[in-house]
Amino acid sequence: KMSADSLAALVRTIPDFPKPGIQFRDITTLLADAAGLAELVERMAAAARPLDPAFIAGIEARGFILGAALAHALGVGFVPVRKKGKLPGKTVGIDYVLEYGTDRLELHEGQIPDGARVVLVDDLIATGGTALAAAQLIREQGATVLMALFAIDLPDLGGMAALEADGVASAAIIA
Ligand code: IMP
Repeated sequence: KMSADSLAALVRTIPDFPKPGIQFRDITTLLADAAGLAELVERMAAAARPLDPAFIAGIEARGFILGAALAHALGVGFVPVRKKGKLPGKTVGIDYVLEYGTDRLELHEGQIPDGARVVLVDDLIATGGTALAAAQLIREQGATVLMALFAIDLPDLGGMAALEADGVASAAIIA
């Protein structure tokens, strides 16, 4: 069993990506480490399992990796929340505001049934704008977002507080 500190040490920080001044937290080093990946997914499973979700929804793109692993660990289905125009079937979507401009997240229509219990997953929460939009889209399907679960929280950016203000419980494995 790996300590929280050893897990955190597997994440690297890349300066000035994708633009100058941004310190990008890169989880590919953690994903490539067998013990680290197992520990991360087990910790996420321990947080999500007591909530008894029927689906894991993962946010494009790194939320797909962790969300699919988590869904498999819990024995439940996985549903992708994608950027606009990527899903081949009929979609439902939500527009949300970014620092510059707007973006859109989409789900396949009907893939999250009315009344479903859902845990939302992404690699990282910063301002919380992406997760808030995804949670709202899932709620618009009549489903319940039991928790938004992240590998990494950047607490200075207030994302988890923003989720809480919107009534979405959240947890992060690495803060
Ligand atoms: P937010 O909407 O400001 O909370 O930004 C979170 C979204 O941007 C998530 O989908 C993350 O994957 C991505 N993101 C923001 N900063 C980073 C980072 O440093 N590393 C990896 N992903 C990031």
